[in-house]
Amino acid sequence: MLYQRSSQLFAEAEKVIPGGVNSPVRAFKSVGGTPIFVKQAKGAYLYDEDGNRLIDYINSWGPMILGHAFEPVVQAVTERAKLGTSFGMPTELETQIAALAVSMVPNIDKIRFVNSGTEACMSAVRLARGFTKRDKIIKFAGCYHGHSDSFLIQAGSGAMTFGTPNSPGVTAGTAKDTLLAKYNDLENVRSLIEANPNEIAAIIVEPIAGNMGCVPPTKGFLEGLRQLCTENGILLIFDEVMTGFRLAKGGAQELLNINADIVCFGKVIGGGLPVGAFAARAEIMNYLAPLGPVYQAGTLSGNPLAMAAGLAMLESLNNDAAIFKRLEEKTAYLETGIHKVLQANNVVYTINRVGSMISVHFDASPVIDLQTAAKGDNDTFKKFFHGLVQEGIYIAPSAYETWFITDALSYEDLDFTINAIDKVSKTL
Ligand SMILES: *Cc1c(COP(=O)(O)O)cnc(C)c1O
Repeated sequence: MLYQRSSQLFAEAEKVIPGGVNSPVRAFKSVGGTPIFVKQAKGAYLYDEDGNRLIDYINSWGPMILGHAFEPVVQAVTERAKLGTSFGMPTELETQIAALAVSMVPNIDKIRFVNSGTEACMSAVRLARGFTKRDKIIKFAGCYHGHSDSFLIQAGSGAMTFGTPNSPGVTAGTAKDTLLAKYNDLENVRSLIEANPNEIAAIIVEPIAGNMGCVPPTKGFLEGLRQLCTENGILLIFDEVMTGFRLAKGGAQELLNINADIVCFGKVIGGGLPVGAFAARAEIMNYLAPLGPVYQAGTLSGNPLAMAAGLAMLESLNNDAAIFKRLEEKTAYLETGIHKVLQANNVVYTINRVGSMISVHFDASPVIDLQTAAKGDNDTFKKFFHGLVQEGIYIAPSAYETWFITDALSYEDLDFTINAIDKVSKTL
């Protein structure tokens, strides 16, 4: 495949945009080469500026769960745009999507919409601090909760790819209120709580981690967190920006049957427009301005185009009883196929998967946290990534990312992908 025009466009971009990109993981830093510029996409396929077609396994890092240019979303946005694109005043649409989200997700009474997953997590933590009147939070190494200051401490994929676990610009004062724990290590959490009695406002966790590859919680881990939180007056925040509306209608809370106190959303909830949200029971949500003392706001929050896209997406998921089963089956089929060809070619690997989140790690030992995820062989990954691009398959340009399966993928696409992986595996 040729990448002449993408290379030219990247060179132009680098002159006026730092690193040529508006979000670092797009830059191909960890795999080398120049990023592919997209012209358009439809269903499971990307079409780049050089005229190549790629089967897409990133899907905008999750949102396009029903495929690119999904008709109901395109129609909703197009129709809505004609009526005005922003008012800074309430619209009926906001109540409609809020009511639908509250009906789909267990254990939440009210939801507030923001513009990104970052904003959702940042606001959720402020709310938890205000509600509990405590300052500290516990986060897990390798979990990503967006790029706000409190979370840029061993933040997983993006930050990890660049070898900067802690970003300059985060003050020591902010960093000291974020306590770092090991994913899937309950004893570690227990000792942090004991060392900081009555000081911890919240534990924030990706219930199924997706930013160090896909790392499922080990048996009892989330149940243990739930219990520790309840016993110690700590709020449990599930960051479901990735898992929400992807693993089940009600996200990981429903799938795993564990209730969080505050839940964060992003990605799928916006149908491909910039949307995030956080939600909780009324007692907690009523602590937010204008009802309560915790301030949180946004000029474009609840934007009509974004809400129209999100509503069309959630309605489509809610009305399709078989959608999550279908996604699970397609991803399981892909997993089985990848196992077969990697084994046949004697590749050393581990595959992790939960529902439609899957990751391939080039190391034989189980991947259960950041440390074990980091053991994957990055040179092999680079070859794997570029080999797949040559075959017309696009996965994330980083070894620490989950693949996001879309329902737009056909079984022919999956077979094509498995064959491509077979071919590329022979070169590793
Ligand atoms: C993507 C992601 C975020 C950040 O969302 P943005 O919309 O990129 O700000 C937060 N948490 C998790 C788990 C994510 O995967």
